[in-house]
Amino acid sequence: MKDRERGGGCTPCVVPQPLKATALTYNPTPAHFSLNARIFYSCIKQPSPTSETNARRPSSPPNVTTHFLMDVRRRLPPKPPSATILSHQKAVASGDDRSSSSAKAGVVDRSPSPVPKASDALPLPLYLTNGIFFTLFFSVAYYLLHRWRDKIRSSTPLHVVTLSELAAIVSLIASFIYLLGFFGIDFVQSFITTSRGEEDSFVLEGEVEQHSEPKPRIVDPVPSLALASEEDEEIVKSVVCGSVPSYSLESKLGDCLRAASIRRQALERTTGRSLLGLPLEGLDYDSILGQCCEMPVGYVQIPVGIAGPLLLNGCEYMVPMATTEGCLVASTNRGCKAIFASGGATAILLKDGMTRAPVVRFATAERASQLKFFLEDAINFDTLSIVFNKSSRFARLQNIQCSIAGKNLYIRFTCSTGDAMGMNMVSKGVQNVLDFLQNDFPDMDVIGISGNFCSDKKPAAVNWIEGRGKSVVCEAVITEEVVKKVLKTTVPGLVELNMLKNLTGSAIAGSLGGFNAHAANIVSAVFIATGQDPAQNIESSHCITMMEAVNNGKDLHISVTMPSIEVGTVGGGTQLASQSACLNLLGVKGASHESPGSNARLLASVVAGAVLAGELSLMSAIAAGQLVRSHMKYNRSNRDIAAIASSV
Ligand code: ADP
Repeated sequence: MKDRERGGGCTPCVVPQPLKATALTYNPTPAHFSLNARIFYSCIKQPSPTSETNARRPSSPPNVTTHFLMDVRRRLPPKPPSATILSHQKAVASGDDRSSSSAKAGVVDRSPSPVPKASDALPLPLYLTNGIFFTLFFSVAYYLLHRWRDKIRSSTPLHVVTLSELAAIVSLIASFIYLLGFFGIDFVQSFITTSRGEEDSFVLEGEVEQHSEPKPRIVDPVPSLALASEEDEEIVKSVVCGSVPSYSLESKLGDCLRAASIRRQALERTTGRSLLGLPLEGLDYDSILGQCCEMPVGYVQIPVGIAGPLLLNGCEYMVPMATTEGCLVASTNRGCKAIFASGGATAILLKDGMTRAPVVRFATAERASQLKFFLEDAINFDTLSIVFNKSSRFARLQNIQCSIAGKNLYIRFTCSTGDAMGMNMVSKGVQNVLDFLQNDFPDMDVIGISGNFCSDKKPAAVNWIEGRGKSVVCEAVITEEVVKKVLKTTVPGLVELNMLKNLTGSAIAGSLGGFNAHAANIVSAVFIATGQDPAQNIESSHCITMMEAVNNGKDLHISVTMPSIEVGTVGGGTQLASQSACLNLLGVKGASHESPGSNARLLASVVAGAVLAGELSLMSAIAAGQLVRSHMKYNRSNRDIAAIASSV
């Protein structure tokens, strides 16, 4: 298969670094310097299949190509590669990870390079050649000056030259050209290429643009893993050519790690891209099979930080946050500290019900309305809940809410789901009810088990208003002293900022459930750490942050109201080792046997508590900066400004 086809036309056409470095290395050879360099460059730029293939295979071809180019210039038989190059090539060929790691990573090695220099073309070592030309230049210059003086003394015409004088003049010109080539060109180039790195100290025409482009870091199809056996090699080839579907590897081999390894190698070959850096080992692939991820080739590492202790409802929680956003954990931690120092926060669970809303169609709006009345009639609820609850011992139907669009009916079922987030559970229950309804409404056409009135993983007012998953309100009173000492701001500053930013600003923006500073930051980080579905961050981050001055305006009352936190402690990613460890840290790992559902509810409360801490800290940071600026702008008392500034 052609590269273009395999790589979707995206495979970068990049001249490998060692080759480029050689072509651009400063060449002290006089006179032909520029011409030779251009020959070099034009050879390298040739889009011939050989050079293209070589460019993509880092193990030996770049050096081989370089030697070839060197030898075109020298018109001498090729020089054998140096010992360093040979050992490098051997290491790559034998898959030695350590020796070839930089090549695999596609990173330019800027340490003393094994790549041959253009000066290798000189018949003598560079220092000897330089010495000869230096000596020649100064000795013939001295000789000629002497001869010149003698001629002036003896009144001999200067243009009358002897054979030895002629030879001296030729030698002077030759050595001058050599020295000019050695120092002069480099001197001029240093002005042209001041902004370039060491390796680019000599830049040829047409190179500027190519060099200014950011270089893809990975251009190297070297597999990141050594093949386990010949048998595996055969399977990799079958996957590459398509005779074995990649998705079938787990069932065919019965070994999930081996399947992932083979799939990964096939992927590297078909794309020509290395996956070096993406770990393969260290994950239990059996635990994700059929549950969490299909066709795995590795896993992404996300650091987990800890914020806390979060003092919530009288208990302390260390909150795990998986994030790559610097300052997020530190900021949330500061919020936890402020809450702790003020006596803690209180979280109240308002509602707990997962939803699913199928869409069904009738021939007429009248028939759709009849089903709506049937479903909303309290007399029928008991029957429907018995049917629904058969799906699981934890599923309990709570409510049915209908909405009509012409002859289409959207039925939003809400049920409790124990410690599971509950999407599977509620979907099974809904299917039971739909099957049951077919008896009385045989003309009902089920268009989809989900009709988006649920509404899952999309911003929707229905979740914001009605709630989905766990609805939680969390509050704390932060004392004036803590606001000043820990949060480095003031209560009036926070209240004003909250009103203008989180409430008015979000209203101006037409926000849906976004009346907060950064709830999504904390929700996502805790979700990823604890194995929740990160896509449900959309509705789970719906939050209104309220701030008010209390206790005669001294202290701050802060609350976050979050109507749709969708979390579980069983099912999905929660059972994976690392996510499970984070749940364990919070004391909510797995199913609660004493009180099913209490682990998931507690997790939702912790999420809300962490959001409260995050809101408090970020709002304070903004308020502190804003207050200083606005005070300066509106020229308030200098004493106040100094006080505020010193507290920032
Ligand atoms: P979800 O519905 O969130 O997708 P799953 O269906 O993957 O979750 O996981 C729920 C499964 O866990 C169900 O089979 C259920 O019987 C089982 N389970 C065990 N204990 C509990 C519990 N305490 N709460 C909810 N489900 C539980």
